[in-house]
Amino acid sequence: MTAVHQNELPAPHRLSWDNAPMRTKNCQRCVISCLLCLWVASGFGETQIRKTADDHFQVILDRSSAKPVTALQVTDLHLGKKDFWRQDLTTCKRIRRLVEMHNPDLILVTGDLLTGEKYFGSLLAAFAVEFFDSLNRPWLYTFGNHDGEGGFGRDQIHEVFSASRWGVLDFHQVTNQWIRKYDYAVDLQRSAAAQPEWQVYAFDTGSAKGFKSIKEDQLTWFKSVADETQRACGGTVRAISMFHIPLRQCQELWDDASLPKKGESQEKVSFEEDDGNPYRAFVRLKNIEATFCGHDHDNNFWGKTRDGIILSYGSISGEATKFAWPTGGKLIQLPSKAGPIHIENVTPQFSHHPPQ
Ligand SMILES: [Zn+2]
Repeated sequence: MTAVHQNELPAPHRLSWDNAPMRTKNCQRCVISCLLCLWVASGFGETQIRKTADDHFQVILDRSSAKPVTALQVTDLHLGKKDFWRQDLTTCKRIRRLVEMHNPDLILVTGDLLTGEKYFGSLLAAFAVEFFDSLNRPWLYTFGNHDGEGGFGRDQIHEVFSASRWGVLDFHQVTNQWIRKYDYAVDLQRSAAAQPEWQVYAFDTGSAKGFKSIKEDQLTWFKSVADETQRACGGTVRAISMFHIPLRQCQELWDDASLPKKGESQEKVSFEEDDGNPYRAFVRLKNIEATFCGHDHDNNFWGKTRDGIILSYGSISGEATKFAWPTGGKLIQLPSKAGPIHIENVTPQFSHHPPQ
């Protein structure tokens, strides 16, 4: 009997690349390709989300390209409305098509994602997580006034969203009855070591009477994050903000015929309890260049105020609530260096029949 020494293993275990038969070479190429795929899938070359504090995240785009950061805003999906399951499926197909068409770096969801019509428990929130996660890119969420109305509350929705692979939602503490305000900031940067190119401030515009706007405690939070960012970065970082309920200045913008606007308005601006202070804080701090809201399903306009801030609605994305025009989204391009923000309303195109 011949002993097999460790370095004299039978042929299949010690094949060299040069003397391997062609089929084995193909196999090895296959294994190498698979390992490369796994490496890529494990995070290399992929956008990453890092949480740096309860109310602060980094989205690391991990690419050196200077092309603008692109965000797709979707709003007011109102998923779960009684007997509207077909429309809800169409909403998801249309958003997926928009993502295929425009390949945005991230998605902004500005509230009323869930109808709040009745108690759905965790299942509807879990469905929303599954859908948005399947789009494979960060989705930033702010609550609308309806999401928690059905009895499955905002804190419970937050708990479900916390299990998301790509979802971003969190809060900071306040000393009033809400205890939590779901405001947070996101730094958008091209690598872990780079400074943020843009910041997104997500504000919670509340749902109950007495809280249906951005309040002073939230503006205090905003100022502290903006000041800290300025200190850390040695200057102002360009920023946008997202929230559900519009600012009262949206109505002033629409009413002022001398200011150019794009998009449409088919209803009055429902600014609820907004007292004008959030806008004035944005003007004072000078970092926020554009705000994106939802809430009014029949407004999708945008324009620049005399102070140079763009006030923009999303464009209705929920089939269950559409009245005015085909559902779609807002495409937002944030330039990597100087230059204006580019905004457009987008609707999905289908090569065959659009989904019913
Ligand atoms: Zn709303």
